[in-house]
Amino acid sequence: MSTEATVNWEETVPTTQEIEQKKPKIGEQAQAQLVQRIKRLLIEQNAVLVAHYYTDPILQQLADETGGSVSDSLEMARFGKASTANKIIVAGVRFMGETAKILSPEKTVLMPDLEATCSLDLGCSAEDFIPFCDAHPDHTVVVYANTSAKVKARADWVVTSGIATKVIKHLASEGKKILWAPDRHLGKYIQSVTNADMLLWQASCIVHDEFKADALLALKEKHPDAKILVHPESPYTVVEMADVVGSTTQLIDAVKNMPEQIFIVATDNRIFYKMQQDAPNKILIEAPTGGVGATCTMCAHCSWMAMNTLQGILDVLEKGTNEVTVEEGVRLKAFESTQRLLDFAAKQ
Ligand code: SF4
Repeated sequence: MSTEATVNWEETVPTTQEIEQKKPKIGEQAQAQLVQRIKRLLIEQNAVLVAHYYTDPILQQLADETGGSVSDSLEMARFGKASTANKIIVAGVRFMGETAKILSPEKTVLMPDLEATCSLDLGCSAEDFIPFCDAHPDHTVVVYANTSAKVKARADWVVTSGIATKVIKHLASEGKKILWAPDRHLGKYIQSVTNADMLLWQASCIVHDEFKADALLALKEKHPDAKILVHPESPYTVVEMADVVGSTTQLIDAVKNMPEQIFIVATDNRIFYKMQQDAPNKILIEAPTGGVGATCTMCAHCSWMAMNTLQGILDVLEKGTNEVTVEEGVRLKAFESTQRLLDFAAKQ
């Protein structure tokens, strides 16, 4: 059984190309000056920069160099909470800023661009989701981290792609029926490996949705020795071709730890920065986002992630703008479902 999301946001999604074209072109010297000003302000304000693997490599490098974190969404939030900084700058998308705030209400959370969102978040509004949950009271509600604070607040569990399968197996072993949201591809993948009774919400990631199985097959024929790494937000036909299916962190570990030299990678191509850092001698090939005659909108890079810029970080540090807030009643409920995951993960 499934439900269709009723929102109509698709027509307004900017392409990655449009976002990149809008960015002011700056030379190396100006960029170096921006970096220096940000570094100084981070120290002066006792602030820390946490950046997602899908952001511009210059931001990932800056987070690394300033004692911040480059990681997946949950680790970003965990790092921010554990840090002694009292200000967290989140380079990522909106739900990541909210998750940081959910775990660290006493800290100021700022984002370079509050318009940076996610198709999974947009495709699962609280207004649609809450009545759907209410209509299925016999189901345990499990939501992916890529959701708004309000959706997390309605859930019993929040999970990330790295641990979702273990959580669902655990719940299925207790005889629970699962209501899963929002990613239909990830839900189908988990269902296929756990055989759990799952009711799937039908949103998807517009970046991973564009990877194409037929074009991937053709690419694999050209590189028969390559291993295929796939994020489970990709369509099931692509997932079926994978040698490794995993979260961003699991795919980085695969490149680092597997003996093979060539990898075809089906996730946002900005992850190559971390993969190359950890395994500089490996060859990485971007999985195709179009078959014969097909075009792509995201083209293996999330346009919302692309909204994070050095200038945006500098602006929020200088002006204190773009603060992420979560209404306290919502935050407390969202904290419960998120903390359930952290407690579960700590026992693994
Ligand atoms: S890559 Fe996909 S899941 Fe990640 S933020 Fe962009 S739209 Fe959302």
